[in-house]
Amino acid sequence: MTKRSFERMGRGARGPRQCSMQPMSESPARSTGAPPYDSPLLQFLHALPKVEIHCHLLGTVREGTFLEWTRRAIAKAGGVAPLTEDEARAFYVRGEKPVGVLKALRALDAFLITQPDDLHRLVYEYLQDAAAHQVRHAEFFWNPTGTAQESGIAYPRALEAIVRAIHDASTDFGIQGWLIAAIDRQAPPQAANEMVEWVVAHRREEVLGIGIDYNEVDHPPEWFAQAYADARRAGLKTTAHAGEFGMPWVNVKTAVEQLQVDRIDHGYTITDAPDFAARCAERGIIFTVVPTNSYYLRTLPKERWALDHPIRRMPGLGLRIHPNTDDPTLHKVTPTGAWHMMVKDFGFSIDDLRGFMRNGLDGAWMDPGQRRQWQAEFDAEFDRLRALHQP
Ligand SMILES: [Zn+2]
Repeated sequence: MTKRSFERMGRGARGPRQCSMQPMSESPARSTGAPPYDSPLLQFLHALPKVEIHCHLLGTVREGTFLEWTRRAIAKAGGVAPLTEDEARAFYVRGEKPVGVLKALRALDAFLITQPDDLHRLVYEYLQDAAAHQVRHAEFFWNPTGTAQESGIAYPRALEAIVRAIHDASTDFGIQGWLIAAIDRQAPPQAANEMVEWVVAHRREEVLGIGIDYNEVDHPPEWFAQAYADARRAGLKTTAHAGEFGMPWVNVKTAVEQLQVDRIDHGYTITDAPDFAARCAERGIIFTVVPTNSYYLRTLPKERWALDHPIRRMPGLGLRIHPNTDDPTLHKVTPTGAWHMMVKDFGFSIDDLRGFMRNGLDGAWMDPGQRRQWQAEFDAEFDRLRALHQP
């Protein structure tokens, strides 16, 4: 983000969007969406103000919306289903060994999302759901290449619908939504370069930077060096999925040193390289981690999963981590649930959570003045809620 647009934000030029948190008791999100929690720990975690900085728009689609769009696609195809309702429902059943969500995401791009209003609905519903868990600032990934090439919605039209939804959700739920244009690493590198061109040509302050996602296997980060260089030159922030799917830690190193990213998504295999981890720790790079990540649920034995999961070891290497939902509806997780797993499954303490909360604010691409203000407000709220709920 450029200094100029930081300043624009600071002057409140964004209409209804808030630069400081709404008072907790007045948040319209408080009474919607989340279940009543009976344990003090869950009540505390639900009430905590949060940022979310690793979440994929297509992975936030509600089951009801997905089914509605599936029925629409079936009707449009004259009953010859590209996807049956049963197949659609199966995406929302998460077994003990989850197969991953990429097929559901591809179906959305290929034939479920057909018009800009679909994108508006997706964004609005995601931000409503996130706000119900006290997420105040949500930076979410969206793949413009798939939307343009598969859904047939060109970048400017798609962006207009998404930005409209961001503003509607800000007005209705008091949450700040921000976009990260994500490279589909399974598409050719030329498509990534083109995506960055679109972002720069149609610059909006809601688009903070770029990322890279989809399957890392056989799609290493160095293929996208040109796109990252172009993005940095244009003043965009950068992050990258690396060290996911068991891919080697050198992918994290490539992302940090060659792509020069501002933060890392996942990054788990860095635990195989303590010396490099120490260098990342020294630089204070934030790692956005995902407790529900399908790869480890699938590959580690059930009884060892929580004990052997790299997330458990990352802070011990000095790394700064922050928990996120990734594909919340498909992973069957909420922001509250992701934070809960950090305690329940990985054994972190309440004091550790305070550190993760600060990491999230430091990793979020927000205006420095707002960050300072929120650091003070989040800290005070953390203490107040801890005393109130005694988790
Ligand atoms: Zn992700």
